Amino acid sequence: MLSTHDIPTATGRTVSLIVADTPEQMGTVGARLVCEAIQRVKGRAAVLGFATGSTPVPLYDELISLYQEGEISFRDVVTFNLDEYAELPPYHANSFRFFMDEHLFRYVDIRPENIHFPNGLTRNAAETCRRYEQRIHKAGGIDLQILGIGVNGHIAFNEPGSDRDTRTRLVKLSERTIQDNSRFFKDGSTPPRFAITMGIGTILEAGEILLLASGDAKANAVYEALCEPVSPQVPASFVQEYERPCTVIIDYEAGVELSL
Ligand code: PGA
Repeated sequence: MLSTHDIPTATGRTVSLIVADTPEQMGTVGARLVCEAIQRVKGRAAVLGFATGSTPVPLYDELISLYQEGEISFRDVVTFNLDEYAELPPYHANSFRFFMDEHLFRYVDIRPENIHFPNGLTRNAAETCRRYEQRIHKAGGIDLQILGIGVNGHIAFNEPGSDRDTRTRLVKLSERTIQDNSRFFKDGSTPPRFAITMGIGTILEAGEILLLASGDAKANAVYEALCEPVSPQVPASFVQEYERPCTVIIDYEAGVELSL
């Protein structure tokens, strides 16, 4: 059974928390919010911010089903992904671009020219990052941003220590993140040590945020993000300072440290 709660955060702002029974149910609920965001936009393309990782996969599965049932189209959707590994070309099996192709894009009617990722192969990261921000701005800003959360409290690749004002930039990944993400590197290689990520400031400019967390490994990060004072040591805690609609969808396991 789904339960919904308005959670007053440490800053007094409220986030709307939905606790689902399973990751699949999280996907169904999350996909409904994504559809609503697409349908709400009239007269221009809807701009969606996508995230990689295991957590949003059920949501992407549900979007594919809704597309196949004719409930939704991506023809007028523009996407910006949160991040990309440095040094990996888009066609590399471990790149985030490849991940999104495999889990969503190749199954739906999105136009390739509307898909955006930071260029991990750039030789001029500062210019690439500046242009990524500019493209988001030119598209009219992100209407809905999907976020996962790291075990260490990161959002996108904004690792502990990242400030509220950070923008898209080249970052060094923490050892914890490299360790957590090595499970995706099925060829036995280790993840790159650097990546380009949207900043916290970039993320907090979205029109709406949808934060997803599943599994008990995320319980502490979810608690610290929502219930502890805002701190750069827990980058996800900056959602407490977010002034627009923020929905957090978790499963029971990720919510065990919250007093609901
Ligand atoms: P995960 O990653 O969904 O694979 O757990 C989330 C994240 O690191 O943001």
